[in-house]
Amino acid sequence: MIDTLRARVEALLPWVDRPARYIGGEFNSVTKDPAGKLRFAFCFPDVYEIGQSHMGGVILYHLLNEQEGIFCERAFLPWVDMEQAMRREAIPWFTLETCSPVKEMDIVGFTLPYEMLYTNVVNGLDLAGIPLHRWERSEGDPIVIAGGPGTYNPEPVSDFIDLFVIGEAEELVLEICSVVARKDISRAEKLELLSRVQGCYVPATVEVKWREDGSIDAFQSQVPLPVMKRIVADVDKAYFPTKPLVPFLQVVHDRANLEVHRGCVHGCRYCQAGMLYRPQREKSLETLTRQGEEVIRNTGFQEIGLSSLNTPDNTQLVPLIKNLTKAFEEKKVAVGLPSLRVDSFSVGLADSLNKAKKTQITLAPEAGSQRLRDIINKNISEEQILNTVKSVLDAGWREMKLYFMLGLPGETDDDLVEMAELFKKIVALSKGYPGRGLFITTTLSSFVPKPHTPFQFVKQFPRDVLERRIRILRERVDPHRVKLRWREFELGELEAIFSLGGRELGKVVERAWRLGCKFDGWSDHFKYDLWMQAFQECGIDSGRYCYTDKTAETIFPWEVVSCGVDKDWLWRDLQAAWNRKSIPNCFFDKCSDCGVNETFDC
Ligand code: SF4
Repeated sequence: MIDTLRARVEALLPWVDRPARYIGGEFNSVTKDPAGKLRFAFCFPDVYEIGQSHMGGVILYHLLNEQEGIFCERAFLPWVDMEQAMRREAIPWFTLETCSPVKEMDIVGFTLPYEMLYTNVVNGLDLAGIPLHRWERSEGDPIVIAGGPGTYNPEPVSDFIDLFVIGEAEELVLEICSVVARKDISRAEKLELLSRVQGCYVPATVEVKWREDGSIDAFQSQVPLPVMKRIVADVDKAYFPTKPLVPFLQVVHDRANLEVHRGCVHGCRYCQAGMLYRPQREKSLETLTRQGEEVIRNTGFQEIGLSSLNTPDNTQLVPLIKNLTKAFEEKKVAVGLPSLRVDSFSVGLADSLNKAKKTQITLAPEAGSQRLRDIINKNISEEQILNTVKSVLDAGWREMKLYFMLGLPGETDDDLVEMAELFKKIVALSKGYPGRGLFITTTLSSFVPKPHTPFQFVKQFPRDVLERRIRILRERVDPHRVKLRWREFELGELEAIFSLGGRELGKVVERAWRLGCKFDGWSDHFKYDLWMQAFQECGIDSGRYCYTDKTAETIFPWEVVSCGVDKDWLWRDLQAAWNRKSIPNCFFDKCSDCGVNETFDC
């Protein structure tokens, strides 16, 4: 069966774009004899180039494959040309390692990095021939699990997933595998057993009670709620693959990755990752240096990225860069900083790493006015921004990328006028420097209220308001100096709906997929009209999710799970936002008692 399927897949490859997406066999990939092993398919609901860049997936793949009794294979969603060919030839979704049908695995594990991949999950299940709904699956079907940040509101996809992994999966996945591998209990018994394990959310154990207006009245559960996340307490001892797979194709992050710490405690109020991954946990300098050296030795990459939510926060960063630069002196391996803080220290670091090549530097002030930066708890002043720009210019950069958000809570038209003023000040600063002056590319992303953040209670601005604010900005900036870019506002609206919605949205996801929606995160494939048709056909008013404010009493669909941060604290922090009060960084300053310390060591 395996060879036959591989031959049939190979016959399609000359006719599709980027056939290397579908062949596997990369350097450091793993093959095993599947006989007698628990078979795990790590499934990413997007194409290879995106999925293979996902650090969490790389960790899980190698961790699982280091276990003798487990064989983990990968499956990425085929691009539309390959999917068409597969459906035409009745070829099911297959794994890269052995070209086995995904349906034959014991566990099918999806990663859910963000909401706009939900139709791809349904598409993947269908292409695999796995019953779409969890209640339709029986003994011979794989157990379908999902992890990643999207699981912090698992409800919109809870029709399709048997079990959600809440938190850091490497802490939990082997426990799940040991239960699924048991031959003496049924599928239902395995799920029942796992529903009692911290970090496992099994939607079948929870019933939602609704009010007449469609809001949630209560959860009736067979297990204590909320399901608390699991985290790796000691990241220094955590598993880290120092022999990671090296893709054939150029992937989104085409370099070695060294995660320097977990968590970020700046407390930006729009940022979900900052709330989900608390507390901040660092690896030691010794561990980081050893892992960095090994990963380069074992892969041959010419660049190593020091990744985290906010790398310049790391207390070991300067000696680490020194150690790695020295170790890689002969091989000329570049050390990269993926995310930069808006401060001169970060620019100085980036400068020391990019002495020769000054292409583009990226900074994220997020809001153009001081008032708005106070509301979102972005503790930077205009003076600091301009000083950072001065450091950028002193170091020789002439191209700069700036990230801003549009439609932030409390935003008014005046904030956009102030943003335009800020651009003018930045451009004026560059006039005293030699060369052709500074060119700024600005990306504006529309604000999406995210679960487990203080802004989960706040509605979005309607699209016509956002359009007006873009016009305000365009009328005021010099297009020869500032290039403005923004994502479709409809995409931000859908993202908010699925961030905030409950399990009633499962039927909308399915209907939208049946109407032809998939790869919704790719703007050329996003079909807003079909989504609106799906809402209408399902009798659901999409506007009630994103265009209404919520209160402290609102019961949110995601209250079935917890990242440790208290809802009361989030509400209080929102009131602090309206009063422009900042909260301290709890790693360097003082604890603001967000609730995480009740379950985890901070
Ligand atoms: S409890 Fe305090 S130290 Fe721990 S994450 Fe929350 S604010 Fe930070």
